Amino acid sequence: MNEQIPASSNRDGLENYWLPFTPNRYFKRNPRIIASAEGAYYTLADGRRVFDCLSGLWCCPLGHANPEIAESVKRQAETLDYATAFQMSNPTTLSFAARVADMAPAGLDHVFFANSGSESVDTALKIAVGYHRMKGEAHRTRIIGRERGYHGVGMGGISVGGMTANRKMFAPLMLHGVDHLPHTYDRAQMAFTHGQPEWGAHLAEDLERLVALHDASTIAAVIVEPMQGSAGVVVPPVGYLERLREICTKHGILLIFDEVITGFGRLGANFASQRLDVVPDMMTFAKAVTNGVIPMGGVIVADEIYDAYMSGPEEAVELYHGYTYSGHPMAAAAGHATLDVMERDGLIPRAAELAPVLEGAVHELKGADGVCDIRNFGLAAAVDLEPFEGKPGLRAMRVFERALQTGMLVRFTGDTIAMAPPFISTEDELRVMCATLGDAIASVTSPDA
Ligand code: PLP
Repeated sequence: MNEQIPASSNRDGLENYWLPFTPNRYFKRNPRIIASAEGAYYTLADGRRVFDCLSGLWCCPLGHANPEIAESVKRQAETLDYATAFQMSNPTTLSFAARVADMAPAGLDHVFFANSGSESVDTALKIAVGYHRMKGEAHRTRIIGRERGYHGVGMGGISVGGMTANRKMFAPLMLHGVDHLPHTYDRAQMAFTHGQPEWGAHLAEDLERLVALHDASTIAAVIVEPMQGSAGVVVPPVGYLERLREICTKHGILLIFDEVITGFGRLGANFASQRLDVVPDMMTFAKAVTNGVIPMGGVIVADEIYDAYMSGPEEAVELYHGYTYSGHPMAAAAGHATLDVMERDGLIPRAAELAPVLEGAVHELKGADGVCDIRNFGLAAAVDLEPFEGKPGLRAMRVFERALQTGMLVRFTGDTIAMAPPFISTEDELRVMCATLGDAIASVTSPDA
């Protein structure tokens, strides 16, 4: 115990800490504490080891406590722990920007660093609106998001996002001039599809409807997650993103892919863009870029957008935007080591190899009592549960609790259980993960079970 803590202090911190996206009072009666982590496993405070089915929060594809990342961060802390990002830079961050750009599709060569997915989204929205202004089209300010989209929790992100619960308390402060495409999930059309559904490409035509409604001259950008993670692994219908790309190009609208979850290998390619062969004008990233060890996010920007900003006087600031910790050298050092390990151990191809194993194992749960849909794409999967009458979300919470008792930490939102295991998982671990989930689902038969 740290002797500097005054005796009057509430030593366990439970009363002081306000947990994000958590029912705090329930949690504080039933605290769940992670004490340490190694590889694909967490160790809880009571000593039990649990499999980390969601790679942290989609951010630790290499698992935990990777010694090379730890060493790289330590070395950076001893050499240059912080460097101002305004009017100065440093070699670790510069070389990391080059590396990130090299992983992106050709023509997206410029990287603006932020510290989280939410900041990355707000950055991309600002770059989009500013770009049109630089080109003399200042009236293009409208942003089109999508229902059920998740783009973080900044005011920009919740405005273009489509998750009702995240928006409704803050509605008066959100961005005006935003509209939303319909989401692409229809259980009647696509339940239990393996990978991408064949149904749904026509929903992209709604963008033409919004263009007709608002006029293309008012629209700056469309932002979508290529695969929706937080909505419960909603997989893009075949042809849907391709069609969005065509319509955006036709009307001079920028297309932004929010790759915060899909970036750095989750779908078995560097980015979803390459997996799906659709190139946006900007891509956001965060999470896996540093294996979650040090926070970092950013936006990868097409040359044409960057060049438009660089057309004014050389001595003038082009973009009045940036964070104290943009391009933090410690984050860049963690990022370098993350990419070193990914490249050396072939972990992105490994994610592609594991994807069919996960697909086979998770779809074995079809037919289990209460399971009403299963989706998978890359190394990500979700299982939807029939909610208990009048108690939405409770069944998934009970399954989450049961799974935790039996050795694995899954993520639940609403009545959906999501899994996105580390790329270092073994095939057996993926099979055990799905079988354990099946047991947990089978054992939760009523709200009190
Ligand atoms: N965008 C997407 C697609 C996400 O999934 C998330 C987080 O899950 C975010 C943005 C927000 O990222 P952060 O929590 O780092 O702000």
